[in-house]
Amino acid sequence: MKRREFLTKTGAAGVAGAAAASSLAAPAVAQKRTEMVVVSTWPRDFPGLGTGAQRLSQRISDMTDGRIKVEYFAASERVGAFDSFDEVASGNAQAYHAADYYWKGKHPGWAYFTAVPFGLSYTEINAWIRFGGGQQLWDELAGQFGLKCMMAGNTGCQMGGWFNKEITSADDLKGLKMRIPGLGGDVMAKLGASPVSLPGGQIYENLVSGAIDATEWVGPWNDSFMKFYEAAKYYYYPGFHEPGSMLAFGVNASWWGKLSKTDQLIIESAASAENDIMMAEYNAKSGSALASLIKDQGVKLRKFNDDVYDSFGDATEEVFEGVRAHSDLSKKIDDSFRKARKDLGAWSKISDQAYVAQRNRVLGV
Ligand code: CA
Repeated sequence: MKRREFLTKTGAAGVAGAAAASSLAAPAVAQKRTEMVVVSTWPRDFPGLGTGAQRLSQRISDMTDGRIKVEYFAASERVGAFDSFDEVASGNAQAYHAADYYWKGKHPGWAYFTAVPFGLSYTEINAWIRFGGGQQLWDELAGQFGLKCMMAGNTGCQMGGWFNKEITSADDLKGLKMRIPGLGGDVMAKLGASPVSLPGGQIYENLVSGAIDATEWVGPWNDSFMKFYEAAKYYYYPGFHEPGSMLAFGVNASWWGKLSKTDQLIIESAASAENDIMMAEYNAKSGSALASLIKDQGVKLRKFNDDVYDSFGDATEEVFEGVRAHSDLSKKIDDSFRKARKDLGAWSKISDQAYVAQRNRVLGV
């Protein structure tokens, strides 16, 4: 505004002033400021998810020296966590940072763009999105809702969850009220549990009050802040339901289409950087957090046995049948995902997986 007042005043000063104003006006147009409201599904300052979304917003601002002015709202600061989608699709806000599987009620295809049961690891989903046709399918799905989505973080492989009793067979899951969103929740329902989808900020109170018996959230680093161990001591691994949960930056497509190529690239680059940084932070902090949970909080670490895992596998296939029957697009996404999972799984087996197993064996890790 000050700049505009200055231009108006100099313009009113006479012919010489008007010439000065027009010479200043050209760069002012090229440097057009853009307002960008970002909403998210995470509590403010929540480690990893919230801080990652905030870091991404700040990075866009910093990369443009404030020319893209990002105003960030954590969950419930502008709209509720699960209202983020509609806020952006409607154009009330320009972008959300979220887990796209929260929108599976709108279309089951969304689940594939966070994580699905027996799905892809961090490195695998990056390969599928960037080089396996995943981004094109994500664009097709998001386009139906007026959105453009991109990768913007990852938690890595998640833990199986917190239980107040041991799970030694699929029968132990029957009647269990568990917070588990996405298709993982549908798998639990097939096994007789009652899944609920609660935003992060509401899980603890429901677990402590007994409204739910079990919950999954993320992994040791995030979960330690949630204090779930106060109500559920058994901490199971590995989670079948979220092997590499990818977070999304979902942008209003109409707004996106009006941005310059430069601004689109800046936003994409910032999101891509966060996709990398968030994963590094989760990996760096999870091991020590797990050790502390066991040593300081008396958490009992347990591994799902093969029988329980086989039950997860059978129920997962039933869930996928339902997803494929939903629409042509769901089937197309599932076909692409399955092809990627087969190719990438075979390669992971003789590369990362084989190497880490041998390294840890030799070193006794
Ligand atoms: Ca989770």
